[in-house]
Amino acid sequence: METLEKSSTFQVDKNGYYGLFGGAFIPEMLYPNVEELRNTYLSIIEQPDFQRDFNHLLKNYVGRPTPLYLAPRLSEKYGTTVYLKREDLCHTGAHKINNTIGQILLAQRLGKKRIVAETGAGQHGVATATVCALMGVECIVYMGEHDIERQAPNVARMKMLGAEVRAATCGSKTLKDATNEAMRHWINNPVDTHYIIGSVVGPHPYPDMVARFQSVISAEIKTQLLEQTGNANPDYVVACVGGGSNAAGAFFHYLDDTDVQLIAVEAAGKGVDTGFSAATTALGNAGVLHGSRTLLMQTEDGQVVEPYSISAGLDYPGIGPVHAHLYQTGRAKFLSATDDEAVQAAFELAKIEGIIPALETAHALAILDRLGAGAHEVVVVNLSGRGDKDLATFMKYID
Ligand SMILES: *Cc1c(COP(=O)(O)O)cnc(C)c1O
Repeated sequence: METLEKSSTFQVDKNGYYGLFGGAFIPEMLYPNVEELRNTYLSIIEQPDFQRDFNHLLKNYVGRPTPLYLAPRLSEKYGTTVYLKREDLCHTGAHKINNTIGQILLAQRLGKKRIVAETGAGQHGVATATVCALMGVECIVYMGEHDIERQAPNVARMKMLGAEVRAATCGSKTLKDATNEAMRHWINNPVDTHYIIGSVVGPHPYPDMVARFQSVISAEIKTQLLEQTGNANPDYVVACVGGGSNAAGAFFHYLDDTDVQLIAVEAAGKGVDTGFSAATTALGNAGVLHGSRTLLMQTEDGQVVEPYSISAGLDYPGIGPVHAHLYQTGRAKFLSATDDEAVQAAFELAKIEGIIPALETAHALAILDRLGAGAHEVVVVNLSGRGDKDLATFMKYID
């Protein structure tokens, strides 16, 4: 591990890197598309009319600001002060829509007529189909054939929202195959299509762009915590990490505030050493995945290892480059929670606070007993999504 330099910044540099991680490792055919984005994204996002439209939709369509809720019974149980950032109350049930709203507005300003996206469990596909319906834009979502069978409700949602769902029939017929198909589509339609990536992954500038759209989470936490406690900075910010977009958004405005401990929670699956896990920092090492240099789970000859988690949103073999950097510099601490621990944490939150969290989010809640937070400390957990989509899984645990 490198030591943390006082002058270090955790934002992307002008070459698209976070320390040793990031960059744009893409086939030559994709170069014009990514280059157009790289050259335009910052100036577009910073335009006042973009900010006005983005903030208008976040407020009136997504339902922001989401509450920062002091959870009294959860606090009592863990002997500390726990606030929940209620991203579960966003339209469509999770934080993912913050990013898709930002990207659809960007696509419009780039004059794109069609949106393409990949989806695993369907959550990002639904968030993308939603904003395309909102804007009246054609939407094509690639999804592994196997996932289409497993995630019928989300396939139905996307279709009802007017999206075309195309099956990826190669390889394991899951997320990575859908990603390949979406990339291929983009290569063939560079002029009129925008590719909406769903997390802080992919070639530069995607990780930075998605983090900026999600940074509204920590901007709101700062304002709300200041209002409620007189101090904008908690002692801990805790978030689950699949690709890492909800965590990147919850950490963003705290990255340089070293009095705030950043805690990222990965999915241990059946256990880190069981061969059924998605705990990337524990099991992975440096390599290139989906266009950026990052940490990923791979074999000795660089083949991506199939990840496993009970939660589809954390079932990803890598993490975004910003998280690889936060891990390597020690700025964020990475923990993991197993399937069983997550399910237990979900049932606990439901029983003692009346909130059913997404299975992904439950991983973040599952480490509260290990955090060692004191009675006078403040913990903010980013409640990334609601659990309605996971009821079929939860029902297996109800007798
Ligand atoms: C997709 C998803 C995640 C994981 O994605 P990140 O990019 O790591 O945030 C976490 N929670 C919920 C509710 C999700 O839908």
